Amino acid sequence: MVALRHIVYRRAIRIYVVAIVLPALVLLYLGLKSVQRQRDAINALLVSNLRLSGEKLASELEHRTAQLADACLREAAAVNLRTSDGRQIRLQFERLREQHPIAGYFFLLEGNSVRYPALRTPPPRQLEAYAMSEDPAAGKKYVALFREAEDQELRLDRPEQALAGYRRCYELPTAASLKALALSRMARCFRKVGRPGAAEQAYRTLLENYGDLFDLSHRPYALAAGFELEQTPARHAQLYRDLVRGRWELSAEQVNYFLSRLVGSEPVGGSDYLGQFEFARALEAGFRHRGPLRSGEVSAYALAGGQGGYQTYYTLLPAGAGRDGLLGFAVNLKWWEQSLLPQCRARLAIKEEVVAVWKSGPGAAPPRRADAEVPVALPGIFPFLDLSLSPAPGATWSDTTRRGFLVYTGSTVLIVAVLIMGILLLTRDVSRESQLNQFRSDFVSAVSHELKTPLTLIRLYGETLSEGEGFPDEDRRGFYQIITREAERLTHLIDKVLTFARIESGQKQYHLQEGDLGLVVARTLEAYRQYLKQLGFSLTVDLAADLPLVRFDPDAVSQALLNLLDNAVKYSGDSTEVNVRLRALDGKVILEVEDHGIGIPPKERQKVFEQFYRVSDGAAKGGYGLGLFLVRHIMDAHGGSIEIESGRGEGSRFRLVFPALPELMT
Ligand code: ADP
Repeated sequence: MVALRHIVYRRAIRIYVVAIVLPALVLLYLGLKSVQRQRDAINALLVSNLRLSGEKLASELEHRTAQLADACLREAAAVNLRTSDGRQIRLQFERLREQHPIAGYFFLLEGNSVRYPALRTPPPRQLEAYAMSEDPAAGKKYVALFREAEDQELRLDRPEQALAGYRRCYELPTAASLKALALSRMARCFRKVGRPGAAEQAYRTLLENYGDLFDLSHRPYALAAGFELEQTPARHAQLYRDLVRGRWELSAEQVNYFLSRLVGSEPVGGSDYLGQFEFARALEAGFRHRGPLRSGEVSAYALAGGQGGYQTYYTLLPAGAGRDGLLGFAVNLKWWEQSLLPQCRARLAIKEEVVAVWKSGPGAAPPRRADAEVPVALPGIFPFLDLSLSPAPGATWSDTTRRGFLVYTGSTVLIVAVLIMGILLLTRDVSRESQLNQFRSDFVSAVSHELKTPLTLIRLYGETLSEGEGFPDEDRRGFYQIITREAERLTHLIDKVLTFARIESGQKQYHLQEGDLGLVVARTLEAYRQYLKQLGFSLTVDLAADLPLVRFDPDAVSQALLNLLDNAVKYSGDSTEVNVRLRALDGKVILEVEDHGIGIPPKERQKVFEQFYRVSDGAAKGGYGLGLFLVRHIMDAHGGSIEIESGRGEGSRFRLVFPALPELMT
């Protein structure tokens, strides 16, 4: 029978798996696949949208850049740049740059050589031209004196006389540059005549008062004198900073030379002034203008070098200088990226994120971030740079697909969990059913066994009485009592089994009627007392009087009490004391049965009310796990409850709690 049930349940599980679980999983798989397909489709759409936006943005950027370059060069061409004074040119360019932030480094080309920013140092200046440019009369006198002093110093090697001559030059009322020249020679002569203190003083004056002026070899006095003075770190650092920030208009050659003498003061990098020389070198190495250029026309040329490349725009210098001159600038990429790009993006209302990505050089392409990112080239203006477009943060695409994905995976997990739970419940049900079957078969043998003992006793004493005549009265009474007791036990046992059978078949009915519980309890105890006495138990009873009325079924209550008393006797161990109390508390009537026996371990306390359940160490006492199940059933039918207070070795206290009827006012 048990094996048959097992097979039936196994088959049920198999049918469940095949008919429900598998189709559900297949449906889930198809669903996920379709979400995936939807995601791919949205991605493809998104990428093409991004590409469209990118192309729109690229053409707007090319257009705006060219427009701005045009405006800038038009204005630059109107400025007079024919001077040979680098500082003048630089100031003009700085002014232009303020008006046209698109311009980074300006440049002037002559033929194929770079005139500005100067790469090479021009040949040393002639003293005559240098001196006459200011005041010819004073200049003439100065030149005569200076030449004489120079002759004394360099040819005749008479530094004392030379010093006097230079001093006279110095004292002439001439331009500052001539004074500085004389002073620098004086300083040299002070050294020669062994007056280092005076030399030091002269160099310091040169450094402090004439630092921005240039000597005949185009060296600023600050640097020329600075190198002669004692090299303190502070002075060194100051000169370095001045150089890097462009205090002096120097050639690339000079910058290199001075930097090599000042290195170590501060790291070079990020200096605009130094950057222009790097650009000038790239220009000279790589700039090739092809074809004729008409005046007023603007051309573009992408140049390799620097941090990835330079984009230059250039035009013809206005006529008048004879040689072909080109004027141009390299786009200020930082400004372009940080100002123009966002401006154009805003004008076209492009919501996507846009960043410029360099294809080579130190700032070159970072790794791609998302699969939906799209690179857009700008070949017309920046061949060395790409725009990279990625979906705007929080864009609906990711939200909807992600939400769809989450909902789907969430429900998948949920459904799978439900399916697994179904399998678990089914399996548990099967094992519980087979366990119950086991219990049932044990129950049958237990009941048969329990029936046997009283029947045997009854038959034994019945036969004894009928066969033997000469028993004394006392013995005879004893035999009758045993027969009555065993018959009662038998009745009780059969009552139990019958009640259980009725409960199982759903036919058990209770006949509730209002009354005093005390009477039924007293009657039941009275009948049981004798039995307890025979077993050597002492029963203490404490029944409160005037209890509130309760609706109850007297037979059922009596049976519940008997079951509890039976257990108290069975599980009392060495103790022989049983207490019964009946009292009212908070609108309830409580019937309590207490023993001092083996008790029930905490984790078993609730299980003892299940049908056929028996605590393992109490099982040896006989019984079949029905008593407490019936008690609970009875209490449920009365709308009451059963409480248990017990611990291993501490005895047990079972309380039947009946709801009392509200008392009527009389
Ligand atoms: P049984 O017929 O086995 O006594 P019950 O349903 O009456 O069945 O009791 C279930 C189990 O609860 C018993 O096997 C026993 O281990 C435990 N139990 C019941 N009453 C007591 C008690 N008063 N003291 C200790 N254990 C008890």
